[in-house]
Amino acid sequence: KDFRNNVKPNWCPGCGDFAVQAAIQRAAANVGLEPENLAVVSGIGCSGRISGYINCYGFHGIHGRSLPIAQGLKMANRELTVIASGGDGDGFAIGLGHTVHAIRRNIDMSYIVMDNQIYGLTKGQNSPRSAKGFVNAKYTPQGSIESELAPLEMALAAGATFVAQSFSSNLKQLTTVIEEGMKHKGFSFINIFSPCVTFNKFNTYEWFKENIVDLDEIPDYNPNDRVMAMTKIMETNGMLTGIIYQNKEKQSYEEMVPGFKPEALAKQNMKITEAEFEKLVAEFK
Ligand code: SF4
Repeated sequence: KDFRNNVKPNWCPGCGDFAVQAAIQRAAANVGLEPENLAVVSGIGCSGRISGYINCYGFHGIHGRSLPIAQGLKMANRELTVIASGGDGDGFAIGLGHTVHAIRRNIDMSYIVMDNQIYGLTKGQNSPRSAKGFVNAKYTPQGSIESELAPLEMALAAGATFVAQSFSSNLKQLTTVIEEGMKHKGFSFINIFSPCVTFNKFNTYEWFKENIVDLDEIPDYNPNDRVMAMTKIMETNGMLTGIIYQNKEKQSYEEMVPGFKPEALAKQNMKITEAEFEKLVAEFK
């Protein structure tokens, strides 16, 4: 299926977000979705534009709020494959509370963070992912004194059932982790190193290539072992890529709600008798 549309992205040439867009389109086709079965909800930032660049339902939400919107969407229509997306500023600063609670809630959907370790849209301020010592000529010329947020540890500690990380320069792995995240029966947290070529002159494609540790190169790694996952994340200073952790046993939120029907609300017979209606009204008086 063709998940491309006619909208030309206005990201800077070389921006890592192009690869994320392509990977979502490929993953959706690989899992056999039709465009009408997929919804992409985004927050604010350069990455937020992604919801308009894919041939599917798209909703460009408000800053840090892609997750509440996407979770509501999934609750109303369980038949949809839902992806929430945004940048590291969107998801790890203003939206961090939603991120943690969405992870522990485990609704069957994916959250893709385009982590460029800076605020790109507003011209390069430090983000929660800018590393300690990050030299930013305008904002921290002597180096940032704050430590960066560690998203993988945070996700595992919050009870994530699927944690993956990838890199915009590795389209094959990027597509695979998104595909597996879509197939996962629960909340999949996917952090993607997506370089901002215009404002981040430190975390460049070359820098990531030198520092990334690919899980494919670690024999005997077991992604079902939570302790091993946390240990490896800490050993590699959060630079691991691949599927880092997956728990296939835990039920999703939907599976735990008693009597929650799989059909979309709009398809369910919501008719009630007059007596039932009167009873309902009486309860709210
Ligand atoms: Fe991408 Fe940075 Fe340009 Fe935004 S400013 S489109 S994040 S390269």
